[in-house]
Amino acid sequence: LYKNDFSKEKRMAVPTKLQILEQYFGYPSFRPGQEELIDALLAGRDAVGILPTGAGKSLCYQVPALLLEGITLVVSPLISLMRDQVAALVQNGVRGAYLNSSLTWGQYQKALHNARAGVYKIIYVAPERLLTPEFLDFAKSAPIAMVAVDEAHCVSQWGQDFRPSYLSIPEFLAQLPRRPVVAAFTATATPRVREDILSLLELRDPWVTVTSFDRPNLYFEVRRPKDKLAELLTLLAERRERSGIVYCGTRKAVEEVCDALREQGYAATRYHGGLEDQERLRNQEDFLYDRATVMVATNAFGMGIDKSNVSFVIHYTMPKDLESYYQEAGRAGRDGSPAQCFLLYSGADVALNRFLFTHSDEGQYIEEEALEQLNQQNEARLQAMIGYCHTTSCLREYILHYFGEHAPTQCANCQNCVGHFSQVDVTKEGRGLVSCVRYLRERYGVTLVVEVARGSKSEKVLRQGFDKLPCYGSLKGVKESTLRDVARALVLQGYLEQTQGEYPLLKLGPQAESLLNGQARVEMRVRQSQEEPEKKPARKLPKGDPQLFDRLRAVRARLSREQNVPMYIIFSNATLEAMAAYQPLTPAELLDVPGVGQAKLQKYGQAFLEEIRKWTEED
Ligand code: ADP
Ligand code: MG
Repeated sequence: LYKNDFSKEKRMAVPTKLQILEQYFGYPSFRPGQEELIDALLAGRDAVGILPTGAGKSLCYQVPALLLEGITLVVSPLISLMRDQVAALVQNGVRGAYLNSSLTWGQYQKALHNARAGVYKIIYVAPERLLTPEFLDFAKSAPIAMVAVDEAHCVSQWGQDFRPSYLSIPEFLAQLPRRPVVAAFTATATPRVREDILSLLELRDPWVTVTSFDRPNLYFEVRRPKDKLAELLTLLAERRERSGIVYCGTRKAVEEVCDALREQGYAATRYHGGLEDQERLRNQEDFLYDRATVMVATNAFGMGIDKSNVSFVIHYTMPKDLESYYQEAGRAGRDGSPAQCFLLYSGADVALNRFLFTHSDEGQYIEEEALEQLNQQNEARLQAMIGYCHTTSCLREYILHYFGEHAPTQCANCQNCVGHFSQVDVTKEGRGLVSCVRYLRERYGVTLVVEVARGSKSEKVLRQGFDKLPCYGSLKGVKESTLRDVARALVLQGYLEQTQGEYPLLKLGPQAESLLNGQARVEMRVRQSQEEPEKKPARKLPKGDPQLFDRLRAVRARLSREQNVPMYIIFSNATLEAMAAYQPLTPAELLDVPGVGQAKLQKYGQAFLEEIRKWTEED
C-alpha cells in the first residue's frame, strides 16, 4: 500500500504534457496529431510527424523536451528559423539556445559552456555542426535525451531542399554513448521522401503520424489575367495594411514587382538568393516586425518562417509543383484566421519552370539514370500543377487528393466552390478540335491545333500548308483561351488524349469517334464571371469588438517597439481577437484566452489587462 501511494505521489509531482502545454505555450488543447507523437516520444519510441505547415510540429518535440530528463537537440536547416524558434521559446519561459555560424567564436564558446553546465533544455543546431570535434565532445559528455530533426525532407534528394549535411545525422547518433530517441518532422513528404526519411535517418521502428493536410481557413483562387501586375495591384489594393507575401518565379521579377509596389506606396521589401546576406536578413526582419507589410520573394524565402499574421500569399508565377505551392501558400493564416491564397497563372509560367528544371543543379548529386527519372518526375509534378490552374472543380479537393487524402468534393471556401458556374454545350467546338487533331495526324500539341482551328496565319501554320486542310479556320472567331479550355475538357472526357513529356501531343481518345460521327455531346463547366466571389469567412473565430481589437493591436505594437520583439511573437492576431471577444479582466481570465501562457502573462499580461479595463470603463 505504502509503495503504491508513494509512486502515485511521485507521478503527480511531474507535470503532465497538458500542463506543459498550458503553462509554457498557453494553449488549452493539442491539435490533431500532436498528442500521439508526443506520447510516442515520451515512451522512448522514435517518431515521424508529417504535418502540414502551420500544424504545430515544433510543439511535438518541444513539449516532450520539457518532460524528458536531459537535453533535446533540434537539427534545423536555417539560421533564421533557429533564431525565431529560440526567441519564441525564451519568450515562453523555456531555456533554449542555438549553435550555428551566426554566432561569433566567443558567443559560441559561451553557449557551449552554458550547455555543458546544463543551462539549456533545448538546443538548436545546424546539421553541419554535428560532427565538428568541439560539438561532438560536448554531445558525448552531455545527457542527450532526444534528437529532433526538423524539416526532415532535407535528407532526401527526392525532396525539394536536399541538404547533404543531413546525411551525417546517423553518424552523429552512432558516436553518442547512448542512442537518444529520434524524432523527424516535415510538411512535405511524397511517399518516396517519406521512405528516405525513415531509412536514411536510420529510425528504429518509428511511430508515424500523417495528419490531414487540409487548412480550412485558407481560401484558394486561380486567376489568369492578361496583365499580372495590374491584377496584383488590384488584389493588394483590397488588402492595404495587411501582411502578405508575393512569390515570383525569378529574381528579376522580384525586383520589378517590388519596385512597382513601392512606387504605388506599399511598404514592400524583397528577398532572393542574389542579395547580400545582410540585406536579406534586414529585409526579412522588416517583414517579420511588420515594418514592411508585403514581402516580394523567390521561393528562397520562407522555409521555417513562422509569421503567424500573414493574411495572404499571392503567387505571381505558377510554382513548379503542388508541393512547393501548398507549402508556400500555407504560410498564410498560420494563426487560424481566414487568409487567402491567389495564383496568377499564365502559359509562360510553364515554359519558365521547364527552363528552370533543365538549368538547375538539382542533378549534380545523382547518377545519370536517376537523372532521367528525376526529369520525368519533375514533368509529372508540373502537369499536376498545371491541372490545378485549370480545374473547375474544388481546388482544395484537388490539392488534398494529390497528397493522397480523401476530401469532400465541395469545400465552400475556394473559388470554384463559391463561384457561379454554368454547364455549357461545346459540342461544335469539341468536334472542330477533334477533327483538327485527326487531320494533323496526332502529331501536334494544343497550341498548333488551336491555331489551325482558328485559322491562324502564323508562320508555322502557313509554312506547313495547314491552311489547306479542310478543318482550317473551322472555329474562326472563338477565343483562344476558350478553345484551350475545350481541349482540356476533351482530354478529361476521353475524346482526346494528351501525351506526357516536354512537348505533349494531342491524340484521338477512345471516345473520339462518337463525337466525329455526331452521336456524342460535349459539355463544359464555365465560370460565369471572373468577379471576386463575396467573402465568406471559413471559420468562425470569436469576433471581438473591432475597436478593442485595434487598441490591443496598438498595445502590442508599442510593446514590440519597446522590447524589440516581433509582434506576432508577443501575441498572434487570433489571440488578440479572442481577447477582444472574451474581454478578460483578471490574470486568471486572461490565461483562459488561447495563446496566453504563464510566461507571456507575466511579461505582457498587465499591459493588455489595463487596456481592456480602460476600454470597459469608458464604455
Ligand atoms: P509547423 O508545423 O509549420 O512547424 P509551428 O510549429 O511553427 O508549425 O506552429 C504553427 C503555429 O501554431 C505556432 O504559432 C504555434 O504556436 C501554433 N500552435 C501549435 N500547437 C498549437 C496548439 N496545440 N494550439 C494552438 N496553437 C498551436
Ligand atoms: Mg516548423
